[in-house]
Amino acid sequence: MSRTELHGQVAIVTGGSRGIGLAISVALAEAGAAVAVLGRNGERAVEAAGTLPGEGHAGFACDVANPDAVKATLSAIEDDLGPVTILVNNAGITRDNILLRMKDEEFDEVIATNLKGAFNFTRAVTRGMMKRRTGSILNISSVVGLQGNAGQANYAASKAGLVGLTKSVAKELASRGVRCNAIAPGFIHTDMTEDLGESQVERLQQLIPMGSLGEPEDVAGVARFLVGPEARYITGQVLAVDGGMVM
Ligand code: NAP
Repeated sequence: MSRTELHGQVAIVTGGSRGIGLAISVALAEAGAAVAVLGRNGERAVEAAGTLPGEGHAGFACDVANPDAVKATLSAIEDDLGPVTILVNNAGITRDNILLRMKDEEFDEVIATNLKGAFNFTRAVTRGMMKRRTGSILNISSVVGLQGNAGQANYAASKAGLVGLTKSVAKELASRGVRCNAIAPGFIHTDMTEDLGESQVERLQQLIPMGSLGEPEDVAGVARFLVGPEARYITGQVLAVDGGMVM
């Protein structure tokens, strides 16, 4: 099926070099957007951008936790691809530990990437989007941010923080034509979940009414919808894509 609803749009996907971010990059490219794929590993980001369907995509090395790198990368993207109209804050990491053993660095690193990283990029793109009175921002949260999870206090806090960021940005920018939504994925097959043991997967499957983990493409289709024109009257929402885990 050929799609064109994002033709002429320029999208940034942080953490677009693999997993959910790569599937979102593919979906946005299939819909006609020019996609800037970002990751700390620039080579992998460039390689991933080269695999996307269509033309005009590019890969960039950028650590979202570094505000100066974010500003410089945004400026390079706009020079290369044009004004950014879609931002997907997808980059995320885990540093799991039980609370009593969690080190300051484990807490700080996760907040710096997952939450502050999204803030850094959102703040950076906002001026241009407001000026042009159009833009769509999507944050990739998690069901863990809605429900909590033992051993993931840092990650859950970062993902719950993204929900607050999403709703605040949505309220602040709605009158300027800029929307902001979030997806809360459940457990999805990617590098992030590949270390789960067989017994953990079995336990998780019992918690998922649909009985299995999801695939990155399950999130990507919803992302394409939320940033696109069919969702033009939707802002400030958090949509769980989780096989029914949270309802
Ligand atoms: P993944 O396979 O581990 O991929 C993570 C991506 O983020 C990579 O492209 C990585 O590239 C990039 N990244 C990490 N830190 C970064 C930083 N500081 N700056 C820029 N890029 C960075 O993860 P995933 O499973 O696809 O997860 C994607 C998002 O979905 C994350 O926010 C995650 O929390 C969320 N999520 C995942 C699941 C799941 O079950 N998989 C469930 C709920 C939510 P580099 O290593 O090159 O930087």
